[in-house]
Amino acid sequence: MNAEIISVGTELLMGQILNTNTRYLSGRMADFGINMYYHVTVGDNPTRLKQCIANAFSRSDIVLFTGGLGPTEDDLTKETVADYFGLELVVNEKYKAWLLEKMSSRGYPCTPNNIKQVMFPADHCIILPNPRGTAPGCIMEKNGKTAILMPGPPWEMEPMFEEEVVPYLQKRSNCMFHSRTIRIFGKGESQVEYAIKDIVDAQSNPTIAPYAKAAETTLRITARCGSEEEGEKLIQPVIQAIEDRVGEFIYSTHGREMHEVCAELLKASGLKIAVAESCTGGMIASRLISVPGSSEWFMEGAVTYSCDSKMRRLGVKAETLEKYTDVSAETAKEMADGIRLQSGADIGISTTGYAGPTGAPGLIGQVFIAVSTEEGCNAYEVNLKGNRERVRDGAVLNALNLLRKQIIAKNRCNLDINVL
Ligand code: ATP
Ligand code: MG
Repeated sequence: MNAEIISVGTELLMGQILNTNTRYLSGRMADFGINMYYHVTVGDNPTRLKQCIANAFSRSDIVLFTGGLGPTEDDLTKETVADYFGLELVVNEKYKAWLLEKMSSRGYPCTPNNIKQVMFPADHCIILPNPRGTAPGCIMEKNGKTAILMPGPPWEMEPMFEEEVVPYLQKRSNCMFHSRTIRIFGKGESQVEYAIKDIVDAQSNPTIAPYAKAAETTLRITARCGSEEEGEKLIQPVIQAIEDRVGEFIYSTHGREMHEVCAELLKASGLKIAVAESCTGGMIASRLISVPGSSEWFMEGAVTYSCDSKMRRLGVKAETLEKYTDVSAETAKEMADGIRLQSGADIGISTTGYAGPTGAPGLIGQVFIAVSTEEGCNAYEVNLKGNRERVRDGAVLNALNLLRKQIIAKNRCNLDINVL
């Protein structure tokens, strides 16, 4: 089966938004063993969209569309695809009632243009519910060709794909797929690939797909199977083999992100944390607080950017700043100690570094991270590459990884690391 993605939206062509939907869908379709041969982006223009549809179906069995399902005049994807298949759109009464109810509960009047969101072909069409928005998606099938239409906003599209399209694809291919994601930090993608190359090459079921993200590597392991249990049985030995090679760098075998792993560990350990940030400007605090229930273990975050603030808020000594500068292991340690003692947390984490691109020539990317507990305080130096954003992101990940290691090393609790 060959697939293709058509992303619809003038804002994509103008560079106003990044096409994250295509990245997401391509990764997921690969998991299902479906070949993805083309990505097309087209503006909100029915003539050009129609040409793209004809082109796509001349070479692909399945075409995934995102965007242009909304109520406005430029949202024309469904109309154009239906026209291509020679299908007429009619109001679906069930979804009309759903939409009216949804609009009134949000306090919005339902104007005539809203109704077009619940118009679908009466035949050759499966409607895909959209509990997160007002435009349901749909699948149109005719003459062996399949169009899968989903909304543009990723927070609507991704769950619709997982909840509605995945079961459809599984039914169609007569088997199911079970995936696990391994997340690796501290070893580059090419080194990981090299270390596990023979394992990857020897596999046909499950398959292993590596993805690189900023400073981390993700391995998605997907088994074609008859049931979830069977899939897990196929995947387990592969995970074990990968752990034997790069285990010390793996922080999750269940696809959790670094801050989610830290949150789980903090929760399970009963330890409380406070952070003092300079170059990361609150990003560590923000990541941790994005996890629901963080009030149980997150005590305080301070953005202490200036030397004055580091002294006043955290008690960093003037002599330390004078002697070692604000970007130093010594300052990082006094920051971490300061925030831990002032907040009453069990662990204090700090960051201070040169994010660039101006100032401190030759030192851009140098970051000190300190971890303070009542047993003592350690500082670590990391040297990161890239622009300001990458240096700051890298600093956050390194700091969270040190936090993770600290909690595991302390082993104050019976942590079930295997679920992470
Ligand atoms: P709506 O009902 O919100 O209008 P829609 O299905 O009509 O949804 P669009 O109008 O095309 O979708 O896009 C709505 C928003 O969704 C865009 O402004 C953008 O923020 C996001 N979006 C659309 N396409 C993509 C994409 N390919 N990748 C990431 N985000 C996207
Ligand atoms: Mg729209």
